[in-house]
Amino acid sequence: MPHELAAEAGTFRVLVPHGYVARMRPGDPHDPLLRQVLPVASEHTPADGFVADPVGDLAAESRPGLLHKYDGRVLLVLTGACAVNCRYCFRRHFPYESSTAGPREWQPALDTIAADESITEVILSGGDPLMLDDALLAECTAAIERIAHVRRLRIHTRLPIVIPERITDALAVMLNTRRLQTVVVLHANHANELDTTVASAIARLAHAGSLLLNQAVLLLGVNDSVAAQRELSERLIDLNVMPYYLHQLDRVAGAAHFEVPVAEGLEIVRQLRAELPGYAVPRYVQEVAGEPNKRVLA
Ligand SMILES: *Cc1c(COP(=O)(O)O)cnc(C)c1O
Ligand code: SF4
Repeated sequence: MPHELAAEAGTFRVLVPHGYVARMRPGDPHDPLLRQVLPVASEHTPADGFVADPVGDLAAESRPGLLHKYDGRVLLVLTGACAVNCRYCFRRHFPYESSTAGPREWQPALDTIAADESITEVILSGGDPLMLDDALLAECTAAIERIAHVRRLRIHTRLPIVIPERITDALAVMLNTRRLQTVVVLHANHANELDTTVASAIARLAHAGSLLLNQAVLLLGVNDSVAAQRELSERLIDLNVMPYYLHQLDRVAGAAHFEVPVAEGLEIVRQLRAELPGYAVPRYVQEVAGEPNKRVLA
């Protein structure tokens, strides 16, 4: 074993849907899906530079649950809940109790959006916004739609990957029948995550009219090779999804064992660019607190 398992997961508990476990290779301790969700002992060892809020989220919060970091776009945290707890998650220490625009507590955030005509895109994030039930999502998205200067609704979600059954036809249609252009940004890190059930969920979203993108995180022992990245990109394109971002790991406390040096990431992306059509190569980005956009590394 490359890492000793943790005796307990601490406050960020282990949470993995059965269907996701079923895509792991039985008996393989190096399985790239297993590694994303399994706590290791070193999570509890402080590592230099790895902190609770690595991307300055709390400084960017203008109303409970509303993060306004970049021009034109706001990020609305509707829930702290996820269907899976990813060990590398940069929000693993996020104070969701005080920083969530929970069901029907979103009015102050919506008022702030309505009062600022520069905001043309609302990003539902979390947690995972699709953890809310359909009725609440419909209520929230309808309220966003009523703000005339908002043009796009973006949904950052890992649910189509980890519980693809969540994406019913009814949900896909509801998210896409609005005046707003719907952009769904999936979060898959490895081709093995993208089985036929996920393909069906993605097809339902695409059929309903969503623009589909994927963001991944570069993770040691999960997808830190040209082969893994290439396979992920090709599988995504097969499924009608554009690789959007490959994120350099945010240095959140407890995730040091996932870090790949930027120099290695650059080399992987350089090789990827030589092997794949341009549209299949994600932008390699890093979030640097205080910068006006995510920093493009390659
Ligand atoms: C990443 C992020 C966005 C979206 O950035 P894009 O480059 O448009 O994908 C918006 N708001 C916050 C707070 C973010 O962290
Ligand atoms: S699904 Fe996203 S927000 Fe939830 S734990 Fe995983 S990376 Fe974090």
